Amino acid sequence: MTPLREDVAQAFAPGGALAQADDRYTEREVQQRMAQEVAAAIDERRALVAEAGTGVGKTFAYLVPTLLSGKRALVSTATKNLQDQLFMRDLPRLRDALQLPVTLALLKGRASYLCLHRLSLARHSAELPDRWAVRTLAKIEVWARATKSGDLAELEGLDERSSVIPLVTSTRENCLGSECPEYRDCHVMKARRDAMAADLVVVNHHLFFADMALRDSGVAELLPSVEVAVFDEAHQLAEAGVQFLGTTLGSAQVIDFARDMLGAGLQHARGLVSWQDMASACDRAARDLRLAAVGALREVRGSLKLRWEERAEQAGFAKALQEIAAACDCAKLGLESVDELAPDFAKLAERAAQFVRQAGLFSGSVTPGRVRWIDLSPHQARLVESPLDIRDALREQMAAAPKAWIFTSATLGDDERLSWFTESAGLDDATTLRVGSPFDYPAHARLYIPTGFPKPNEPGHPGAVATLAARCA
Ligand code: SF4
Repeated sequence: MTPLREDVAQAFAPGGALAQADDRYTEREVQQRMAQEVAAAIDERRALVAEAGTGVGKTFAYLVPTLLSGKRALVSTATKNLQDQLFMRDLPRLRDALQLPVTLALLKGRASYLCLHRLSLARHSAELPDRWAVRTLAKIEVWARATKSGDLAELEGLDERSSVIPLVTSTRENCLGSECPEYRDCHVMKARRDAMAADLVVVNHHLFFADMALRDSGVAELLPSVEVAVFDEAHQLAEAGVQFLGTTLGSAQVIDFARDMLGAGLQHARGLVSWQDMASACDRAARDLRLAAVGALREVRGSLKLRWEERAEQAGFAKALQEIAAACDCAKLGLESVDELAPDFAKLAERAAQFVRQAGLFSGSVTPGRVRWIDLSPHQARLVESPLDIRDALREQMAAAPKAWIFTSATLGDDERLSWFTESAGLDDATTLRVGSPFDYPAHARLYIPTGFPKPNEPGHPGAVATLAARCA
């Protein structure tokens, strides 16, 4: 047995570090088996795909060997909420229980952090749609003075869909980088610096893949120096990858661009270019694109995926794409004519040029080996072209530097090779492990299949679940 595997066995043993830290700790054979396999994968720097049923305790089964290995690690989860749970609850508890001097960092996408530069723009020039938005901005301003991390998740009661959020967060396109007057205190840059200095960094799958495609969040710089990469909730990896490795043209992005251009134009170059006309043309073209995507559907509830062929052949759709290209091209020329007056203009011109390119891409035929579709929601249409799976992207990362790759979830396939996951992720050679749930489901569980139930993406779903749960309780 290697020293790491011995340390792991001791940590999980009766009277070991975990039992000493929590008197409710109970030994679980399945948890120890998984932890030993993770330790072996770390020792041998290879890939492990582990399916662990509910109740195995898989989070500790991968965190204990990862922390005890003393190697630099990256842990990716499916959502920002799970990231927070790991970073704020599980990891500090384990670090204390194992008494390890490990530095931890949490890294989210830039849309999760307050942008100080855009907050100051919003303060002076934002056209806030209603008094709720005015109140939200005031609340953000108060919090902005005290926050250390700038993570908007700290702000209790902030609606994730608030129209104020895009006004006070940055995108890769509108961030001024080192030319920004707030660069020294920037929360996005600080989160990245902390991540680069930490022993273990918690990210999410969206960020991981978005960074592979755009090199914008710091994960790409981090990955080469990491020796252990763990993906929890790995069953969601392919979906996140396919979404982020692709090209997207969203009507909301163009509307945001129009608003930013108008704000920057009126602030730094009022009267020099017809900002209002240019912004209105971009805004109108974006709204027309959404209407063309909605087509004969009268009302869109929740989110909807449309096959590309359902719209691509329609004349109105092609025309809407041409109008986006024309309006953004005109905006680009206007912005370039004043780009020496403020750094915002060059960035805005780059965004306009990108929309022109994307409109051109979506006006042509689908790139071989890729798939296209339209995501529709009540407020926007997103045209997406993506690779069919994440095989190539993951293989490229895995070939770049030898390290341990751990993929785990409660459901990864229905055979010993976990083919459903391993095939789509290109992990055909990985070691696989299946550990079943220690719970006695036949004795303690019932399965209900309600009829006439709202779909998970429909607004009535949470309420219907609550009502049903109350009835069954
Ligand atoms: S550097 Fe970018 S993210 Fe940071 S404050 Fe400036 S514009 Fe915002």
